[in-house]
Amino acid sequence: MKYIYILGACGSIGTQTLDVIDQYPEEYKVIGLSVGSDLILSKKIIEKYKPEIVCFRKEEHIFSISYAPKVVYGDEGLLEIARYQRYENEWLVNALVGVAGLMPTVEAIRNGKNIALANKETLVVAGDIIKEYVRKYKVTLLPIDSEHSAILQCLRRESDREIEKLYITASGGSFRNFTREELNGVTVEDALRHPNWSMGPKITIDSATMMNKGFEVIEAHYLFDIPYENIEAIYHPESMVHSCVEFKDGSIKAQLGVSDMRIPISYALAYPQHRALAVKHVSFKACTLHFDDLSMERYPCLSYAFLAAKKGGLYLAVLNASNEAAVHLFLQGRIPFLKIEQIIYEEICSEVYERSYTPSLEERISVGKSVFAKIIKEYGEIL
Ligand code: NAD
Ligand code: MG
Repeated sequence: MKYIYILGACGSIGTQTLDVIDQYPEEYKVIGLSVGSDLILSKKIIEKYKPEIVCFRKEEHIFSISYAPKVVYGDEGLLEIARYQRYENEWLVNALVGVAGLMPTVEAIRNGKNIALANKETLVVAGDIIKEYVRKYKVTLLPIDSEHSAILQCLRRESDREIEKLYITASGGSFRNFTREELNGVTVEDALRHPNWSMGPKITIDSATMMNKGFEVIEAHYLFDIPYENIEAIYHPESMVHSCVEFKDGSIKAQLGVSDMRIPISYALAYPQHRALAVKHVSFKACTLHFDDLSMERYPCLSYAFLAAKKGGLYLAVLNASNEAAVHLFLQGRIPFLKIEQIIYEEICSEVYERSYTPSLEERISVGKSVFAKIIKEYGEIL
């Protein structure tokens, strides 16, 4: 039995995790959940799984529950779930969005929980520190991201020393057939219509700007200990090949499957088993697959991610915070689509932040908060 905690249970990854758990009730038991602002869905989920601990987003969201779980709320409540400890073999599925997921991951590791990590911002801001904690507290951390799950599968029983290169595939996002000129005037609704995946709003916008791929390169760098120069993001519009590993003898392994996040979720929870799953199976015989270079001119956010990673120090925290602020403003209809990348560029090109040193978690979070606040104030009223 695995004892499961899910942060962000009402979101896209959260609900799909519950769907996977439903398929193996004898294997997984839900112990803790954090729910969002959708109170009807929150109630349904809490009453169905009857977790021992529930975290509400805000105190005013707390409603009466038919039994008596421990009830907590807010950022501190997320940390309480991370600290709650009753069983052997506990797993925390972090399906929160944004840097809000960082401290709960850290706290869960410190308390001996294994981590199934969808919250990629955790690794973007603090991949080096997380790796160190995973080693120190002897827990397992597995990715819930289709590309990294693919790489994990390709690397099974392979030697790290034989890896030549990782290829991370990218669908191209909502505007993949648009020229840069055509990106002027696109709407939030257009941006939220991803051609291959159904996901939460922030990652859908990150996919359209290609910042999501930049984040995934950083994620891969930390998860698999591969230098940035050996990781390449490539265009693959069918989203059938989820990523590839090239070995030193020229052999390339790829992992294929339908675009359904329940597959990587199930792989993380059942690792290293490919347990039977009620999802559509792919007929790759019927497919024609395309691959191409990803142009940094067309998708500058990808190059900004590499630039921030190269600068080091506080720059990855600045990259993440400026992206969170800009995407937030775009989703609110307060800035146009192309302003997102401009805001990020201004931040990561400025030389005001310290580089080439290892900042503490507190410094990263604090600089992130001030960058976020500054951008919201500066650009909030533009459109
Ligand atoms: P989502 O917006 O659908 O869900 C996020 C959930 O987190 C929501 O229920 C929201 O209420 C909750 N939440 C957000 N901020 C919070 C806070 N400060 N405190 C408490 N709760 C908060 O997002 P998603 O698409 O499920 O993505 C979750 C994470 O997984 C992201 O980091 C994303 O990049 C990553 N991811 C998602 C997918 C996907 O297919 N959706 C694929 C790969 C990786
Ligand atoms: Mg992905």
